[in-house]
Amino acid sequence: MAFELQQTLFTSRAHLDGMEPEEEFRKVGDLSLTPVTEIDIKELAEIYDERDVYLSVYLPTASGEEESLNRSFVRSREKAIEEVLSRELIESFKETMAIVEDLLFWKSIPGERGRIVFASALTSLLHVYRIGIEPDRTMVLNSSPFLLPLAKLRDDYMDYGVLLLDSREARLFCIRSDVPEEMGHLSIDLMNKHKKGGWSQMRFNRLRRGAIKSFLSEVVDDLQESCAGQEMRGIVIAGPGEVKSQLLEMLPDEMEKRVLGVVDLSIDASQKDLIEIGDELALEDERTRSTERAEELRSEILRGGLAVLGVEATKAALAEGRANVLILLKDASVPGWICERCQVIEARKRQPETCPTCGGPTSAVDVVEELYELAERTGAEVEFVEEDACLASSEGVGALLRY
Ligand SMILES: [Zn+2]
Repeated sequence: MAFELQQTLFTSRAHLDGMEPEEEFRKVGDLSLTPVTEIDIKELAEIYDERDVYLSVYLPTASGEEESLNRSFVRSREKAIEEVLSRELIESFKETMAIVEDLLFWKSIPGERGRIVFASALTSLLHVYRIGIEPDRTMVLNSSPFLLPLAKLRDDYMDYGVLLLDSREARLFCIRSDVPEEMGHLSIDLMNKHKKGGWSQMRFNRLRRGAIKSFLSEVVDDLQESCAGQEMRGIVIAGPGEVKSQLLEMLPDEMEKRVLGVVDLSIDASQKDLIEIGDELALEDERTRSTERAEELRSEILRGGLAVLGVEATKAALAEGRANVLILLKDASVPGWICERCQVIEARKRQPETCPTCGGPTSAVDVVEELYELAERTGAEVEFVEEDACLASSEGVGALLRY
């Protein structure tokens, strides 16, 4: 955990009423890996300014080779951004770049595969996250932190559990953004407990079966306790032999529903194996879930029920707080602009210099990102869908409604 860089990170939030950013000083001396599910995306979604002052950077950092690619990517984005900024904003952008300059290229720590940075010199915001999964290279300057890439990562990499067991040992892991954390370990020593005493083979077998059963019921208790209150996608049951099905039979219904899959695996399986197998099941579960959501959306639309499609209707539903689930195609992107004062969003229309409603400053945005932020602020769930014909024909955007 020792990390030589001691640095004070500043965060501030410019709230709806805009003025006085409330400042909050955080010491983040050791920046260990952060699961993407732990990043407070709701808080980030509240941050915005009237000007384009928030820099968001996503970089893959898994290997040394990435570093030179990252450097040339950041250089070229930096140049492109400067070319379109006003003189006043160039100064603040340069200050922001000076703050992040070094930390963008910090040497990665074990297990780190990506880095996310949100920064703004003007509003004293600096968030740095080392993550265990690989993001696509992205660098954006906007009036708020750019959250869509993070939101998609969170959708795919929700935490899940892996229970690895045989008849004498059980280990429970929580896989968070591809980093396993061992949550519990139980074992019994069947042989030593029962070898002595000269029992008949039959009696020994009976005792052994009993011991396994009570061991498994302890495992079930532990599992329930560990999973209670944890926001997890579900649990993978892994291990050699028959004992897995014995355990499955003993699981209470509500736990059984959370089982993502049952797989044969050596009890000495490496963490890498656990993640590989677990990820496959977790992503399959994610795909099933999003397909179900997309189908629900389609059938609600067909029967004139509680759903809307397309940017305009979805925007209105979100603004009125009627959206329950915002459903987005993964590659949806709709150019438009937002008024940074009254928050009016227009898709596809040419960005006016000032807002026709309030005269406030406008900036070019991806409307999908704005809809996402609106969903976070209004407490709507967000689901990303890989592909869907119905969504694809409606700008990749839709919502299930509360009423
Ligand atoms: Zn306005």
